[in-house]
Amino acid sequence: MTDEVAALVQLRGVDLRSVALRKIIASVPEQIAELTRKVELLREELVQKRALSEELRTTRRQKEREVEDFTEKIRKFEFQQFEVKTNKEYQALLHEIALLKEKRSHLEGEIIELMEQEENFAGEIREFESNVAREEAEAAQQRQLLEEELGRARRETKVLGEEKESLVKRLSSSVRVRYTRVAGGKGGIGIAAVENRACGACFTNLPPQTINEVRKGTRVISCETCGRMLVWPRE
Ligand SMILES: [Zn+2]
Repeated sequence: MTDEVAALVQLRGVDLRSVALRKIIASVPEQIAELTRKVELLREELVQKRALSEELRTTRRQKEREVEDFTEKIRKFEFQQFEVKTNKEYQALLHEIALLKEKRSHLEGEIIELMEQEENFAGEIREFESNVAREEAEAAQQRQLLEEELGRARRETKVLGEEKESLVKRLSSSVRVRYTRVAGGKGGIGIAAVENRACGACFTNLPPQTINEVRKGTRVISCETCGRMLVWPRE
């Protein structure tokens, strides 16, 4: 195997790893944004739940004030009982008091129902709050792991870049030009390994003679279909 072909074999490994790292580097910010979005949605939901609980409380307080008003009215009418002159007036007053008491009792029933709702809802909110806290902690942890992964990927990319530079220097100028051109047009992958008697990149079957020559590694051979330079896979 010539040194140039040996360099191509190594270069293929470097390129494959670089492409994988590029994918990681591109996807990490998205993943972090997704984590943030998830937590934000939960927080919004919590705000809504709290507002709803406040609404229940306001409604209940309003009804409690109405009950007080009714009680006040009932007391006044009960006073008036002693001042009325006729039986008719007295009956009308009793009727009025009964009516008010009925309304008040109805309201009191509603208040009890609201209190039960509030209690249930408060429990639900407490549970939701601990869920949110747990999700937040988890998201923070995941975010940290992703940031570490990103850092590692960037550092490795830098090392690979230097490695690539020294490997490219071992190529003849014509092969270097070919490599740069093909890699540029094929998403960074300018070298393919022979796999199952075919080009490992475009999967076109290769003639036996080509396969033999690639295996010997005495000269640089390109895939006639995709143009990538072919190498024998490392054991
Ligand atoms: Zn090919």
